Amino acid sequence: MDDLISLVQRYSPESVDTVKKAYKVAEQLHRGQKRQSGEDYIVHPVSVAYILAEMHADCDTLCAGLLHDTIEDTNLTKEDIKEMFNENVANLVDGVTKISKMNFSSKSAQNLANTRKIITGITDDVRIIIIKLADRLHNMRTLQFKSPFKQKENAIETMEIFVPLAYYIGAYRIKSELEDLSFQYLLPDDYKRISEQKEKVEYESKSTLEEMLLTIKGFLEDKDIPNEIKIRTKNIYGIYKRLSDGGRLSDIHDLLALKVMVDEIENCYRTLGYVHKLYHPINNRFKDYICNPKTNMYQSLHTTVFGPDDRLVQTQIRTFDMDKVASHGLATYWDVAKGDAREIMQENLRSKCQFFNSLVEFNSMFGDNSEFVSKVKNELFTDRVYVYTTKGEIVELPKGANPIDFAYKIHTDVGNNMVAAVVNDDNVPLDYVLRNNDRVRILTDELATGAKPEWEDLAKTTYAKRRIREFTRQKKS
Ligand code: MN
Repeated sequence: MDDLISLVQRYSPESVDTVKKAYKVAEQLHRGQKRQSGEDYIVHPVSVAYILAEMHADCDTLCAGLLHDTIEDTNLTKEDIKEMFNENVANLVDGVTKISKMNFSSKSAQNLANTRKIITGITDDVRIIIIKLADRLHNMRTLQFKSPFKQKENAIETMEIFVPLAYYIGAYRIKSELEDLSFQYLLPDDYKRISEQKEKVEYESKSTLEEMLLTIKGFLEDKDIPNEIKIRTKNIYGIYKRLSDGGRLSDIHDLLALKVMVDEIENCYRTLGYVHKLYHPINNRFKDYICNPKTNMYQSLHTTVFGPDDRLVQTQIRTFDMDKVASHGLATYWDVAKGDAREIMQENLRSKCQFFNSLVEFNSMFGDNSEFVSKVKNELFTDRVYVYTTKGEIVELPKGANPIDFAYKIHTDVGNNMVAAVVNDDNVPLDYVLRNNDRVRILTDELATGAKPEWEDLAKTTYAKRRIREFTRQKKS
């Protein structure tokens, strides 16, 4: 608790008194309860609040973190919380309580309804999901006290639901840790093998990276660019995925990366120039996620260079602000939100997150819980492909999508008036499977006869299928 208070004191001193009050309430209510580890129960809510404080959560969220298990496990009611704190805290705790039980694999109506609630919780107040993620993270960190069956069950659920949710709101730090914790229980042998290999590579490359770090730092200091440089390592599960895609460990150039943080965007590009001057870049490995942010708001420059000892080293260059978004995603925005964190975060979701908008669509499209859950699992929580419009905007689609899906995602009229598709300057059939970085142009004609019934089978996304069916039905009637 002292750690929590001193952390909050540093970024939000005005919240300290209220957080202390929430702690007192929670401590009294949970008194006598124990966790499976034998510790007092209160350790859990305090740890959850601490994870939230590391993300610089606002005061309401911290209190809700401390109180998140009170409605479920004690006599406290939503009304009580509202009276003692405020309506926001009450709604947050209530929201977290309602989504306490769910999984994708279960067919039970109760579970499906809960799964839907957790997923659509994002559209209501994303802070509920962030508290839930912190709760899950602490439970996964202490999973060794559960039975082997529970361990596997929790690990699967975490991989299926919480990892994608963390990814879509951009909370990379939580996502990576959740992945590694789950992986450890799901495939313990692979986990162990890869961690050992990773350690070996880390040991071998350490001096190379430190040498580069100091060289770049000295250079930036000479040029008066405020900076901080860190060595970043890929998580174990990330390495496992790359290896299962057929990669070799020696080919994973971002296993260890240098992360260079500077004060402003202009200095990112200046730094890039200096890095390229110091170390030869590989030409096809440069990525500008500053001008082309990832669809979950991640921004950074990535370049792979020939470091000392002929080692290839990925260098990531971004501003301090971008780095906060990279670690915590959306959660970054409650920092600047004085007063109404919810409004600002929901607005950011609406305007910047394609996942959010797809979710809103799915929610309105499917009344049936089981249909909703299976569609979300198979179309949203699945591998994505990223393609460009002719204007350079990035469109996110599920893997396997084709120009028909692309056209309907842009606009229903574009889909209905489509006569042909061009990808990277070549005419392609409408069932062409889109690949990352394809540039897609849909040729339309207002005199086109409209969606063809056979497109419905070709389309991969439910959204496109629906629009095509609507059109062909209308035409018949
Ligand atoms: Mn909990």
